[in-house]
Amino acid sequence: MAKIKKQFTVIKGMHDILPEDFKLFAAVKSIIDKFASFYNFSPIETPVLESLELFERSSGQSTEVVQKQMFSLLTKGGDALAVRPEGTPGIVRAYIEHGLSHAPHPLKLYYYGYMFRYEKPQAGRYRQFHQAGFEIFSNEIDPIYDVQAILTSDRILEAIGIKNLTVQINSIGDKNCRPPYLEKLIKYYKSKSKLLCADCKERLKKNPLRLLDCKEDQCQELKLEAPKLLDFLDSNCRNHFRRVLEYLEDLHIPYMLNTSLVRGLDYYTKTVFEITAEGLDASLAGGGRYDYLAELLGGRKTPAVGVAIGIERVIEIIKAHNINLPMPKVKSKIFISQIGEAAKKKALSLIEDLRNEGILVAEALGKDSLRAQMKMADRYGADIGLILGQREVYEETIIVRDLKSGVQETVPLKRLAEELKKRLKTVGR
Ligand code: AMP
Repeated sequence: MAKIKKQFTVIKGMHDILPEDFKLFAAVKSIIDKFASFYNFSPIETPVLESLELFERSSGQSTEVVQKQMFSLLTKGGDALAVRPEGTPGIVRAYIEHGLSHAPHPLKLYYYGYMFRYEKPQAGRYRQFHQAGFEIFSNEIDPIYDVQAILTSDRILEAIGIKNLTVQINSIGDKNCRPPYLEKLIKYYKSKSKLLCADCKERLKKNPLRLLDCKEDQCQELKLEAPKLLDFLDSNCRNHFRRVLEYLEDLHIPYMLNTSLVRGLDYYTKTVFEITAEGLDASLAGGGRYDYLAELLGGRKTPAVGVAIGIERVIEIIKAHNINLPMPKVKSKIFISQIGEAAKKKALSLIEDLRNEGILVAEALGKDSLRAQMKMADRYGADIGLILGQREVYEETIIVRDLKSGVQETVPLKRLAEELKKRLKTVGR
């Protein structure tokens, strides 16, 4: 009996991007690239694999990203690595490693690539997803850069056509004013520990700030009475935050103070923010200031702020709201058909010759009838048909047919490129 072969499917939480969707991803990427260069961000690419310790040290040993969501592995050589759950630690590692601190500052970098998190898959939450990230390294801690990070991501989302964006914003203080706040917070939650969900009982021990963004009903209620970090900011952090809000108002960027927004990573200081859109539970972008990270990774003190946009969520909104993006037009207006073995062989080299001349040609090189090939040309939306048969091969000619009017003429192959260039001008390419 024949054995039934196992069929493979995509791994849980990962997803294929098929050609139709790929066009959307490409259109979004092209808007991002355009804005990045417009706002003076230089592209940077770092590897998907980094040392496990890099993330443990930057994102924080006790954070959910490191504890639960990291795809980590041991190489055959015994190195402990992690597939990046986020872009910032790799960028800061590269910044230090390549002496980018000597480049003129502010140094604005941007990246686009896959991130990997072992999360529970659900709508808008994948285990492999794209982020476009923007990082600004500066000489001084200036709220103007926080606002530039917010502005860049907000403008990109707006340019994509996403409406009703809101910036949720908070300040989580710095290493001077956060510890006394944490003491108060822990004291408050210890007094309510029996009422906490199981995860929050752990958070209370390991990462108390995260108690504030638990989504469980029982914890949401407790949050209402919890001490607020904003009330504990020292004058330096309070001034910084006030100026960020003033700049946002000047730029007419709508924001909402969200005192329980803490973000999942240890390295944030002062401003943290997320951008949400109406009708979407989860955020489209998130970021914040991270003034101690470079030092924590062995570099010198470097004020910095960054933001990452989640591309899959952007694509989901585009689809749900039928947003029309300017699609890159790469469609060929020429379709070549062939009949017979000699013509097929000739067509293959002819297509190459035309492509070398910069002329885009779509082709049918199978064994289909001319009628079937013409149908394909029609479905493809071509304006010009090229038909190659035995006779044309022999005479070194080709039939050039105007697919709209059906009028056709035989053209010597030598003159084909010139003829096509002339015709393409009249059909608008
Ligand atoms: P974060 O790096 O957690 O600040 O996330 C920044 C943005 O990346 C979010 O606002 C989302 O748009 C996106 N994002 C984060 N996690 C996921 C995920 N698991 N699947 C899809 N998108 C995500």
